[in-house]
Amino acid sequence: MLNDFVKPDGALYVGPTADEIIKPVAEQVKNHVDKNNLVVFLCDAHAPDDKEFERFPKHAVKGTRGAQVIPELATSVRDNVMVITKTRYSGFFKTRLGDILEEMSVERVTLVGVCTHICVMDTCGELANRDYEIVIPRNCVADFDQEMHVMALRRMKALYGAEVV
Ligand SMILES: [Zn+2]
Repeated sequence: MLNDFVKPDGALYVGPTADEIIKPVAEQVKNHVDKNNLVVFLCDAHAPDDKEFERFPKHAVKGTRGAQVIPELATSVRDNVMVITKTRYSGFFKTRLGDILEEMSVERVTLVGVCTHICVMDTCGELANRDYEIVIPRNCVADFDQEMHVMALRRMKALYGAEVV
């Protein structure tokens, strides 16, 4: 949920479907923060010459405003809120996410954000490889491609056992 994806002036704006999930995502975050559950923001933070920019326009360059979590969610920063930067779609690739989930004895993960068929789906696959229970609230994920959005939800449910609610 970074400025570059969710805000209309962002470098890789997902579109109006992203606006629609801001409120429900903020509610999810608030609920989990209040319950003292771990909340992790998985944030793209690319080098200016990242290989990914051969496939996508330049976005979420480390240290820029575009790489920051949208202000609507920034208010929820507390002890049990963590930011993990990443350079690929999966939140697990070259990050400490796997270790952190293990250390904190996490069993169930709620996945939210953009884009459904890219970062959400790749992260979901890695969660399934590690046998986590996965919940995806459908009002909290969005995509610039509606067909891929629908396909990704079906695939995550069928292949990864995600509960799409
Ligand atoms: Zn990226």
